[in-house]
Order: sequence, then C-alpha cells, then structure tokens
Amino acid sequence: MEEIDKLSKERVRAHIKKMWSNKGGCTVCKSNSWEILEDTFLIANKSVDRPFPVSVVVCARCGNTMFFSNELVAEQTPDPLKILD
Ligand SMILES: [Zn+2]
Repeated sequence: MEEIDKLSKERVRAHIKKMWSNKGGCTVCKSNSWEILEDTFLIANKSVDRPFPVSVVVCARCGNTMFFSNELVAEQTPDPLKILD
C-alpha cells in the first residue's frame, strides 16, 4: 500500500476555509463550531485494494461528520505551517 502522509489540522482547516461557500455553517444545526480530528482515517473499499484516506471534521454541537479526501486537500492546499518556515 502506498504510504500516505498525515495532514496537519492546520492544513485541513486552511483547505476548509478556502473552499467553504456558506461561511462554515453546519448543514444540520447551522452552528459554526467544528473539530478537526487529529488522525487520518482510512475508508475501506471492497472493490479496490487500497483504502481511501480522509480527514474527519465533526460539528461540536450536533455531531454532523464530514470527510475530506487527504489526497485532494494535499493537492489543493499547501501546509500553512511549512509556508511560515
Ligand atoms: Zn451541527
């Protein structure tokens, strides 16, 4: 399996801020309080031998959970921590 780098919370946050068109409101409860989980999660796919790596973002109020493709985040959003170096 291809090694997939873990993305920093800051990178996922920067990606979401760049892409989110409705100013960050939760589609369920309209709150704007999100938690970006520390780990990368792998979604299994039974027809492909490689799992799909995602970053997980959870609404702190209602639990609505979103997945962002690590590959796409890495392609489109540079790591803000590395830009500062
Ligand atoms: Zn919510």
